[in-house]
Amino acid sequence: MTSNAWILSLGTELTLGQSVDTNSAWLSHRLAELGIRCERHVTVADDLLATRDLLRDAAARAVIVLVTGGLGPTDDDLTRQALADAAGQPLVEDAASLEQMREFFAARNRAMPDRNRVRALRPAAARAIPNSVGTAPGIRLELGSAVIYALPGVPFEMRTMFDEFVRPELAARGGGAVLLARRIRCYGSTESEIGERIADLMTRGRNPEVGTTAELGEIGIRIYASGDSPAQAEALLDRDEAEIRERLGRVVYGRESDTLAGVVGELLAARGQTLATAESCTGGMVSTLLTDVSGSSRYYLGGVVAYDNRVKLGVLGVRSETIAEHGAVSAAGCREMADGARARLAADYVLATTGIAGPTGGSAAKPVGLVYVGLAHAGGTIVRELHLGAASPRDSIRVRASRGALNLLRLHLLE
Ligand code: ATP
Ligand code: MG
Repeated sequence: MTSNAWILSLGTELTLGQSVDTNSAWLSHRLAELGIRCERHVTVADDLLATRDLLRDAAARAVIVLVTGGLGPTDDDLTRQALADAAGQPLVEDAASLEQMREFFAARNRAMPDRNRVRALRPAAARAIPNSVGTAPGIRLELGSAVIYALPGVPFEMRTMFDEFVRPELAARGGGAVLLARRIRCYGSTESEIGERIADLMTRGRNPEVGTTAELGEIGIRIYASGDSPAQAEALLDRDEAEIRERLGRVVYGRESDTLAGVVGELLAARGQTLATAESCTGGMVSTLLTDVSGSSRYYLGGVVAYDNRVKLGVLGVRSETIAEHGAVSAAGCREMADGARARLAADYVLATTGIAGPTGGSAAKPVGLVYVGLAHAGGTIVRELHLGAASPRDSIRVRASRGALNLLRLHLLE
């Protein structure tokens, strides 16, 4: 079975937000590959008592504790002392580590600064973890029923030492268990709606474990399966993915690193059809998303950013009466943008956007977040009215408008 782990990051620069903890995320991924579930990330400032108490707490509640940071030679590097205090052991000098550090400096033709000697200290019953790419060794300490691995904060050193020392040890004890993850990507529904339709799969304690995340209109479904072998975990992932696809139908657009633009592109390429864009409030974002995909020239012709009405009228042929009567942000305006672009650019499909991205420019009749997305094709023109939230940030409105346009075409192509 899987054993649980905690990951602790030490450093005032982290708790003050001056640097961002990337070590924990990296380590969590490595643990998952070994079938070890990480239950907690804890970040604590450079404080001896707080670190000591955190170490004791972690050792009492986790089987594996990974610690990064605080192994340097300065007074704010407290990991060694905190480990010794947590274990009630004195610090002793590790002869092999001292020798290794001397060699490190000698190889660079420098004398080892005296300060550096503290880096060879470790709690009496601990072992030093060799550092083949830097000076500070790490520390491996057994505390109660837990094993603690303390590694340097510098990501490159931390990763190398994990790969060379920690990973083989954890793999040896792991009993071959694996934890595999899969991501299913959805668009066109809400997190709560999706949550209701797959509620039974999301029951706590179930294997696989299923959870949802929402980001700018896109809903992600994460599936974590543990098994005795990769094949067994993979089979569980396949089973849940099939079940989710069955229940959610076209709301599911892809998996892993798929994008809406990429999926739409593949559908167009498969039919040998072309797409162009006519964008107002998204200012070219739909075009950017499409051209982010390598090979998009197979189906994407290009587009017009028709921001000012002069471009909507002059380039796209939107009628001035339409603008006078309905305004540029209107279903009629959007329709004429799409139709005008389709006539001028000779594309099979045109996606058009017009709306109020805010924060200024909204009114009672046309609030911020009101967006029209249009799709013109040989069979006619469809326009959808989206309400993306009067209080939403500009960027969020523009991204969701762009994705909404792409999704309109995706659904049409799937019909
Ligand atoms: P050193 O021996 O180099 O002093 P250390 O173990 O004392 O290493 P810290 O002093 O805590 O580590 O951090 C060194 C640098 O490593 C930090 O300035 C920061 O850039 C980076 N670092 C520390 N912790 C993290 C973390 N959790 N995620 C990403 N980077 C980190
Ligand atoms: Mg340091």
